[in-house]
Amino acid sequence: MRRPFVAGNWKMNTTRETGVALAQAIAGEVKSTQPPVDVAVFPPFPYLLPVRDAIAGSGVWLGAQNAHPAAPGAFTGEIALNMLQDCGCQWVILGHSERRQFFGDTDAVINQKVQAALAAKLGVIFCVGELLSERQSGKTEKVLETQMSAGLAGVSADASQLVIAYEPVWAIGTGVTATPDQAEASHAFLRQWLTRRFNPGLAESLRIQYGGSVKPDNAKELLSQPNVDGALVGGASLKPEQFLPIIRAAAELAQAG
Ligand code: PEP
Repeated sequence: MRRPFVAGNWKMNTTRETGVALAQAIAGEVKSTQPPVDVAVFPPFPYLLPVRDAIAGSGVWLGAQNAHPAAPGAFTGEIALNMLQDCGCQWVILGHSERRQFFGDTDAVINQKVQAALAAKLGVIFCVGELLSERQSGKTEKVLETQMSAGLAGVSADASQLVIAYEPVWAIGTGVTATPDQAEASHAFLRQWLTRRFNPGLAESLRIQYGGSVKPDNAKELLSQPNVDGALVGGASLKPEQFLPIIRAAAELAQAG
């Protein structure tokens, strides 16, 4: 039984004030209800410290949306892994489609980041997903295979430190979500891939999140799929009235066994 993992990717959103208020609302709910679900928030870099303080003692994890793989040095504008840890981060999102699309994060760059983050003992949410044109031309599995092989090259994983996020690019921020069947098919494919690349035990224990327009009204259906182990949530993670019901949906499913 994999413990669900619900993560909120705030992207380049919130102010310090609204970010802290959002973090307090999530922390308050998690602390009081203790859901059988792992919960993490990924604020913008400047708000890591105030958000860390807002969630302290609640059980909510803190993560960053990106990192540079090198040791501290002459890399103007970049953030090193140990700086993230210094700010209380336990996780980092790598390979997000917005990084791939807009910031030149190639499979090779992402692989360097994944290797460096795991070596630094940070948890990694590693994102993969196909474009709409790739799905329409029947290339979804080929794309996932390429991204997984390249992004995880040379990686020896541990289920507590690595999470895969399946995020079909056409579903991110669009309001169009994958159907539960489409999500399940890709998740099952990814788990088979993990079985071949690592071993059946690890593949069974690694969590695969779904991401792409997850909202309170579709969360339960998506999360109830056998290979969907949580959600990476963008837009809906910015409002407690949307994010908390997603955590509750995951908790109810986990409690129902
Ligand atoms: C994301 O950015 O990871 C994401 C899934 O965004 P949204 O939920 O807004 O589609």
